[in-house]
Amino acid sequence: MVTSWQLYVEYNSIEKELMVKLEGVANSFKDGIGKALWNIDNDSIAFILAGIKKIEIISGAKVTNLQNDLQGAVGVYVNNDGEYLNSNTNAVDSNLEVSQDKVIVRPESANNYYEYTLAIFFEESTGAPELIGFMSLYSNQAAVFQRFKKSFVIIISIALIKTFALWLIFLYFANNVVAKPLTDLANATEALSKSDKLHRQPYNISQLKLLADPDKNDEISTLAKSFLGMQNSILEKIDNLYCINEMAIKLSQSTTTKQVFEYVERYLKTLFGCQFAIVADKNNKVFWSSLPKSELPAFAIKHSADNDDLPDTKTHDRNITYQHPSVADQIHSLVKEEVATLVLPILAAGFEGKQIRFFGPLNIDRLTGDLQLTKETKSVLQVVSVMISNTLTNLNQREVIEQQNELLEERVDERTRELADVNAELKHLAVHDPLTQLPNRTLFNDRLEQLIQLSERESRCFAVASIDLTKFKLINDNYGHDAGDLVLVEISKRFAEGLRGTDTLARMGGDEFAALLSDTDKHRAIDTIMQQLISRLDKPIVLQDGSQIMPNANIGIALYPDHAVTSEQLFKFADIAMYNAKRSDKGYSIFCPDKNLQEQEFAELINELELAITKQELVLHYQPIVDVKTKILNGFEALIRWVHPVRGKIPPNMFIPHAEKSRHIGPLTHWVLSEACRQSVKFEAEGFSLPISVNLSPRVFTSPELPDQLSALLQQHKLPPSRIKLEITENAAMTNPNQAMEIISKFSAMGCPISIDDFGTGHSSLAYLTRLPLNELKIDRSFLVSDSNSNRVVVETIIELAHALDLKVVAEGIETEDTYELLKQRGCDYAQGYYFGRPIDAQRAMKLLKSTGDNNSLLLPPTNQT
Ligand code: C2E
Ligand code: CA
Ligand code: CA
Repeated sequence: MVTSWQLYVEYNSIEKELMVKLEGVANSFKDGIGKALWNIDNDSIAFILAGIKKIEIISGAKVTNLQNDLQGAVGVYVNNDGEYLNSNTNAVDSNLEVSQDKVIVRPESANNYYEYTLAIFFEESTGAPELIGFMSLYSNQAAVFQRFKKSFVIIISIALIKTFALWLIFLYFANNVVAKPLTDLANATEALSKSDKLHRQPYNISQLKLLADPDKNDEISTLAKSFLGMQNSILEKIDNLYCINEMAIKLSQSTTTKQVFEYVERYLKTLFGCQFAIVADKNNKVFWSSLPKSELPAFAIKHSADNDDLPDTKTHDRNITYQHPSVADQIHSLVKEEVATLVLPILAAGFEGKQIRFFGPLNIDRLTGDLQLTKETKSVLQVVSVMISNTLTNLNQREVIEQQNELLEERVDERTRELADVNAELKHLAVHDPLTQLPNRTLFNDRLEQLIQLSERESRCFAVASIDLTKFKLINDNYGHDAGDLVLVEISKRFAEGLRGTDTLARMGGDEFAALLSDTDKHRAIDTIMQQLISRLDKPIVLQDGSQIMPNANIGIALYPDHAVTSEQLFKFADIAMYNAKRSDKGYSIFCPDKNLQEQEFAELINELELAITKQELVLHYQPIVDVKTKILNGFEALIRWVHPVRGKIPPNMFIPHAEKSRHIGPLTHWVLSEACRQSVKFEAEGFSLPISVNLSPRVFTSPELPDQLSALLQQHKLPPSRIKLEITENAAMTNPNQAMEIISKFSAMGCPISIDDFGTGHSSLAYLTRLPLNELKIDRSFLVSDSNSNRVVVETIIELAHALDLKVVAEGIETEDTYELLKQRGCDYAQGYYFGRPIDAQRAMKLLKSTGDNNSLLLPPTNQT
């Protein structure tokens, strides 16, 4: 607005100036014009006007008389009708349009020209001036505009500069008074936001403090004041937080309860300014105190005078300095009752009923003595309380766990030692025989393998000995297992003494022993060792009841590498040699490849025996038994044969002894019994009711399940028990008389007839024989094959004895008529032998039965039978 006004004024002044100039020009020429007008000298007028026209600001001029008649004109002028005319028709302004009689100026607006009219007076030297006409001057408005344009630019420029300057001044002012304090505040806020205990804000707040002048009351200073207040409270909270944080860390690191309390006291001092603390129960019994007893104020020790746990002097090793006790008393005097300023219950296991009491100038209402705690302080205290309780609980648990751990470790140690002992014992047990303490089969095999490897590397020789005690079973059965054990121990001792330290003696199980004899390259050396070993058995073993036993053993030897190089082969050959030893009188035998080949083959055969049963390679042959007086067929003895697909018919003597030594004898016997039953049923079906005698080997005979097996078979075949006669060798019956008695009684009770086989070869006690429920005695074949004097006496005696005991007598091995006649004379009841018939298969036995006719009598001599 100011500028517009200025422009307006400027414009007016330019106009005025123009008018003044026009007035000046008019006045300068009024006299000349006056004279010329007076003289009506138009030429002079024209001349003067031409001169005027030359003045820069003059666009035109005219002179008129009183009648307004035009006396002269130059340039642009206005006629009486108000029209613009141009006196110079030749020099037409481009803005002028020329008509026939006048030139009409046609500017954009009517105000294009300023007009200044001056009255022209003529003054004679005597009289008063007389109006004679008018002179009008015209000036083009454009000139004014031209000048105004310049002024306009200047004025506007000045106005702009002024505004800018003003703006600058304003800015300066605004910046200094408003923005700076705000920036300070902002910086302070930022510094505060980054502030922590360790990196205290580096912002210089002195400026801010200046702003927060307490005398000032403007908005900025109010803001600054409240900011400073806020800052202080925030920094305090940060400090508290750090304090609590540090406290938490320290508490978590503390290892004793004492340490826990010390940290609590130290940090609460920082947090709340307490002076000292005690831990006490509800009865004021003090458990811990941050001050030594001597420094505790009276009220704090009043109830704990008898507490000896409190330290008397300042033994606490801390950096915290305590104020003099009297200060504490003073503090206390602020408190109404004799209570601590602040009491925190300890909610930890093992601290039931205990509290931490803090003493110090906390926010205490001086009138009531009550604690004035803010909400925030309360929550901090809650956190602290939980922290203390947790730490103490943890410590307590840790102690318990540590104690338990120690206990556990002790126990583990103890158990480990025990285990190690047991382990060592087990290890020993695992590879040793518990009875003789000799290495067992496992250890023996192990050593054998090692010895093989060593001997292979160093080209050494060694021997494997397989040792079998003879008649051990008899000892066991007759004298009991304790006696058997004693014999085993004694024999193993004697053998061990007879061997060198480098040799290994092992108990392989039962009455089997084995030995490894190292570095034996000569047979002669072995002979010596063996003779020594065997001779060690010459001395009788005295049992506990005083009875004496002469031990005996068979030893078979195989040599590495002469006979075999693998442990299995060595063992097998030693075993074969051992069987061979049974037949020799030396008691030992060294494996002889040629001689033992057959034996070896049969030892291998025994492995096939089990399959032989299922493959039906076994058959029973039946040998007739006849009544001596009438020669009527009285029964059959079932004798087993093995029809081997490759080897042909194998006699029982070749495999039964091996079967007896192995587990095959059981199934074999079962098969024989069942086959005999089956055949008996067949005979029965054809109308022949006679007993079939079955041989029971000594080992099977004593097996407890046999009576049940037989009974089941008889039931299965619906066969009367009298059809199966059981042959038990004299030796088997005498070995364990009590057991034999029991089993024979069982069979007898079932209804099966019992026959004592091979009678005369053993040493039966007569008294014992009479007690057995027997049916017959079978005189051993050996008494009948040769007709010697002594044999005759034996046979006679047996027959008489049997009859005296009310037993039948069967004579085996009758090959000739003479023998038959002899037996007939002696009163023998039954006879069996090639003279009557060889063992025949079931088919031929049936045929034989059918051919005997109604009375079963055999046609003699039956020499065509095989
Ligand atoms: P053993 O019980 O004494 O059987 C009689 C043996 O004498 C049979 O031999 C028989 O063929 C043979 N023998 C019969 N009469 C004469 C004769 O006049 N002169 C001659 N020199 N011998 C005669 P075998 O069949 O070879 O049986 C031998 C042994 O095998 C039997 O002796 C018996 O102890 C055993 N044995 C046979 N079969 C079985 C069986 O099924 N189980 C069991 N455990 N042992 C059996
Ligand atoms: Ca027999
Ligand atoms: Ca016999």
